[in-house]
Amino acid sequence: MRAPEDKNPEQINGDELLEDKPFEPVKITRRKLFTLMAGAGLIAAIPRFPLAEAAMAESDKGDANLAREVVKNLQEFTKSEKNSLGMDTPQGGNAAHKPIPNNVPPEPFEHAFDMPIVGFVRGDDPAVQALKINVAPFHMTPLELFKKVHPDTPCTDAEITVISWVMPLQERVKAEQRGLPDIYPSRRWGKGRTFGEISSDQSRLGVLELLSSQGYYAASAAVTTHFKIIPESAYGFASTWSERHYAYCAGLGTFGLSDGLITPVGKAHRCASAIVKARLPVTPRPYVSHRDHCLYFSSGGKQCGACAKHCPAKAIQTYKEGIPGRSKVLCFKYVTDVVTPYVKAKYPDNTAYTIYCGRCQVNVPCESCIPKART
Ligand code: SF4
Ligand code: SF4
Repeated sequence: MRAPEDKNPEQINGDELLEDKPFEPVKITRRKLFTLMAGAGLIAAIPRFPLAEAAMAESDKGDANLAREVVKNLQEFTKSEKNSLGMDTPQGGNAAHKPIPNNVPPEPFEHAFDMPIVGFVRGDDPAVQALKINVAPFHMTPLELFKKVHPDTPCTDAEITVISWVMPLQERVKAEQRGLPDIYPSRRWGKGRTFGEISSDQSRLGVLELLSSQGYYAASAAVTTHFKIIPESAYGFASTWSERHYAYCAGLGTFGLSDGLITPVGKAHRCASAIVKARLPVTPRPYVSHRDHCLYFSSGGKQCGACAKHCPAKAIQTYKEGIPGRSKVLCFKYVTDVVTPYVKAKYPDNTAYTIYCGRCQVNVPCESCIPKART
């Protein structure tokens, strides 16, 4: 592949790409200051970003035409049959295509995701660089990933853009999960986890195909062998490429009490990303703290906390119990000890991936939007 030096960029600000302009400019209100103060006392389970870095939400110039093409590509993917909940696949929808005991027949096709939101951030952005400290030393910078995939191509941090997108789960998936008591995940939710990730990979491959067809050097961590989950980080399990953290850096959302990324389309979603050796318009980060969108933190612990109430494992604690946040250990133990045996027995048409729960992602004010505080 060839990296075009100059694609005749049309110079516009990154926020012009967000058609519905969902964000307001950053204002440091008393409430936001309180959020920052609350953030300062958080447990290490959630990475932190200093104010100076969070406030780096600058507008920048870049190749707006290419950015638009990427957004269009993702929108086309969302309308296509590659965006699939896996209801109509062989063996009744088992991603592993294993024979299933009761021969569940294929069901009519359903999409997994609604339209995505897309953000762009440069490889030399301070928040991106800080992920080495805030996630784990083994967490890859965009340049590190680039060098692994294109070792013979010279490149710098500043020449790379991370394209991040958040794909909200279809209402039908969320509704089925909402309708069950807070013990186990629903069948469609499980499909969203298994086939959602397969669909995510399809969205990644589609963006890579677009970029490489135009001569750009590109990569997507999740579809390489360089994506790994490693248990030895300061925060427990951590991956070599965190889609949620890159989405945060790309202006798409902030972290909630339950660790989920609260975005304008809520936190019941899946994130994906790709990197490209090209300067695309930067999306502003319209928040000051990495906790801005969570009602619990923004109210100093006075409002919400709904995710903690819904967690059957009591893995999400509030100030009442100690330092607020999610215990990855308790969450993982519940999922593997309780949920996995249940879903294997109950949903035999979807046994390819059985480590999921998501009870904290529905029936909460941040399920499908950035929640508003009570006044
Ligand atoms: S449910 Fe409430 S406390 Fe939990 S992440 Fe969402 S806004 Fe924050
Ligand atoms: S995924 Fe399930 S167990 Fe884990 S924090 Fe959320 S509700 Fe609790």
